[in-house]
Amino acid sequence: MESKDKRIKYPFHKLRHVNEKEYRKLQRQIPHIKERNKKYAKNWHEKNREKMRVYDKQYNKEHPEQIKEKKKRYREKHSDKVKTRHKQYMFKLRMGVLKALGNKCVRCGFSDWRALQIDHVHGGGLKELRSCNTKKYYEKVIKDIEGNYQLLCSNCNQIKKHENNEFPNIKVKKNGT
Ligand SMILES: [Zn+2]
Repeated sequence: MESKDKRIKYPFHKLRHVNEKEYRKLQRQIPHIKERNKKYAKNWHEKNREKMRVYDKQYNKEHPEQIKEKKKRYREKHSDKVKTRHKQYMFKLRMGVLKALGNKCVRCGFSDWRALQIDHVHGGGLKELRSCNTKKYYEKVIKDIEGNYQLLCSNCNQIKKHENNEFPNIKVKKNGT
């Protein structure tokens, strides 16, 4: 009954005197037709999910430029969502790194994750961190099996840096005063 009412209300005279393409376009805007098409599309996608997945994969492979552009547009439109998702992902990754390295400072046993830092046993951590992004760095640390990394709390890390003379700027200041 409801769809019938809608059909009567729609100004069909608008559909006269237009070409076929335009006619179809206008027809798709009629509420009950729009609803019906939506339902049909949903059903079709549910039935052909596997097929679509294969097709999508193939399409993504063949059109890298378009996909890049599409992703860029999505990021711009949903920047907040993307940011929070990235933050959550990075937090999870960081917790994974901490777990892999023992979850506590190797010097004093401090275990609050907020003040734990990844330390290069043989130095040069800052250089490596600058050479790649944080995500790649974390992944590298998790994969490492040679024991190149360890966990230190902020205090122990700072003390270690002083012990190894990793503060050239402070030295200059000391000489100046
Ligand atoms: Zn410590």
